[in-house]
Amino acid sequence: MKIHQFPCLSDNFGVLIHDPESGVTAAIDVPEEAALRKALAETGWRLSHVLVTHSHADHIQGIAGLMADLAPVVIAPKKAAAAVPEASVLVGEGDEVAVGPFRATVREMPGHCADHVTYHFAKERVLFAGDVLFALGCGRVFGEAYDEMWRSLSRLLELPDETFVYFGHEYTLANAKFALAADSGNAALKVQVAEAEAARAAGRATAPTTIGRERAANPFLQAGRADIAASLNLAGQPPAAVFRALREWKNRF
Ligand SMILES: [Zn+2]
Repeated sequence: MKIHQFPCLSDNFGVLIHDPESGVTAAIDVPEEAALRKALAETGWRLSHVLVTHSHADHIQGIAGLMADLAPVVIAPKKAAAAVPEASVLVGEGDEVAVGPFRATVREMPGHCADHVTYHFAKERVLFAGDVLFALGCGRVFGEAYDEMWRSLSRLLELPDETFVYFGHEYTLANAKFALAADSGNAALKVQVAEAEAARAAGRATAPTTIGRERAANPFLQAGRADIAASLNLAGQPPAAVFRALREWKNRF
């Protein structure tokens, strides 16, 4: 699997995956049609599929303009069907998606929004997490779905450490500031913040990350730690409650 990541809009990531043998090429979300077309021109790949993670406009607004000439097969969450009328394949929990020789397992990951799914290509060890998990952060929780978001993040932690995680936004340096405030003694975090600062200073993206890196350093994935709970005056409380306190703190940060 060849993977090409490119910037879109102000801070979104676009991603293409490609199989040289069959020629299939899938975009993970389409934040911006022009940026996607430029990426296709640069790579020489022909778009055959779009995998939609969730229905927020900055992930789907570029799809409509692709249908007249490229006419990709658009695969979207069942719950996002109304928002993605171009979708011809609707998927939900446990479904398998085929993109040429590649196989992804769909997992429903509500919390950031109700229709969010992730695509896990187990053989290639690649997860497309959309706006569920970011490097050193996680998606904002809309509404009151904190318990659902915690459950979704906990399910991602079941994946192997070596899984590469592609995510929706270059928010890493802002996430790092909060992470250092929430978990100031975390040595793995300090290393990753330094790496992210160096990457951004050199004009490089901080994506992908890995499950292992996030397990060690992402403040939202530390909600099960007794010392983090105690630091929030939530000693003895369940991880979901600690997660909520962390996420609400980040909203105000
Ligand atoms: Zn979103």
